Amino acid sequence: MSDTTMILMAAGESTRFNSAVKKQWLRVGEKPLWEFAADRFAAEFEFAKVVIAAAGGEVDFMRSLCDYEIVAGGATREDSLRNALGAVESEWVFVADAARALTPIEVARRVLDSKGEADCIAPAIKVVDTLALNDGCAANRDRIVRVQTPQLSRVSVLRRSLAQKSGFSDESTLIAACGGVTRYVEGSEQAAKLTYGGEIAQLAPPSQERLIGHGLDVHGFEEGKPMKLCGVEIDAPFGLKAHSDGDAALHALIDAILGACGLGDIGGWFPDSDKAYKNADSAELLRLVLAKIRRFGFAVKGADITIAAQKPRLENYKIAMKKRVAKLLDLRYERVNIKATTTEKLGFIGRSEGLAAFAVALVGYSA
Ligand code: MG
Repeated sequence: MSDTTMILMAAGESTRFNSAVKKQWLRVGEKPLWEFAADRFAAEFEFAKVVIAAAGGEVDFMRSLCDYEIVAGGATREDSLRNALGAVESEWVFVADAARALTPIEVARRVLDSKGEADCIAPAIKVVDTLALNDGCAANRDRIVRVQTPQLSRVSVLRRSLAQKSGFSDESTLIAACGGVTRYVEGSEQAAKLTYGGEIAQLAPPSQERLIGHGLDVHGFEEGKPMKLCGVEIDAPFGLKAHSDGDAALHALIDAILGACGLGDIGGWFPDSDKAYKNADSAELLRLVLAKIRRFGFAVKGADITIAAQKPRLENYKIAMKKRVAKLLDLRYERVNIKATTTEKLGFIGRSEGLAAFAVALVGYSA
């Protein structure tokens, strides 16, 4: 059994990162960056276990995608580390960053091979540029290094240091400030943080695979309520009974998109017990879902919706609905199709008690 746990920090909000996709969700093939980084180290070294610190709201999704232990991170890297350490039982902890997914394996090996030689072992590189204070005074660059990760720390010392001081951006400087022994080994320019987007080009591009999802929604009719389908107002003496505006077609579409992304269902995202969604505009719910999946590295590529209704007749609305949905999805019109059918007067739909909508969505990984 290994005496070392790996913690992968993947809880950042990537506010400085120039991309619609969150940094830890950039795709390397089909894998999000955090999974790629965790797998890479886990395949090379033996760990007692792997703990991943996730951003709030992403814990369940990450849990559903891998067998690593996922814990909720905090507002800062230090808070996330504190939380993740709660899941560590081993003597040593190897803390890596999803944002440094390009770190050469030799750097990690140098760190791990120095186990026992200090309370914290970290990679660092020398500074080659002239260093000056901002008044022009030269600074002694021989005493300065650029500290990187992954870092290996003695768990007892790291816990004690975190209890003593805060405000440090890494373990090596925290532990040294608290009286522990830090040792630096040779790092690599390759271990730089993916901060501004360009470096990601060195990794495999996002997969071209397409994911498919299906959705179904049924609503009963309610006299006097306005009816909306695919975000288009339909002229009818009744609307759709629901907590929200009852747009069954957009609800089915949302479920299809969530299905393709592996993100559960609309009921989990917008519970009808939540007052915030009372009379909600379903186009707004769709926008929220699209913003979320974009951050996770997904993009909708196409949709096909079928509405089964005896009443009202929808023939004259199909083009308007197609255009409305395409605009909501930011797609060319031809990527969206709307079909309408009756059920030959059979069942609850045939008796005009309500209607059903079915949707299929095609989703890809975005760059
Ligand atoms: Mg519904």
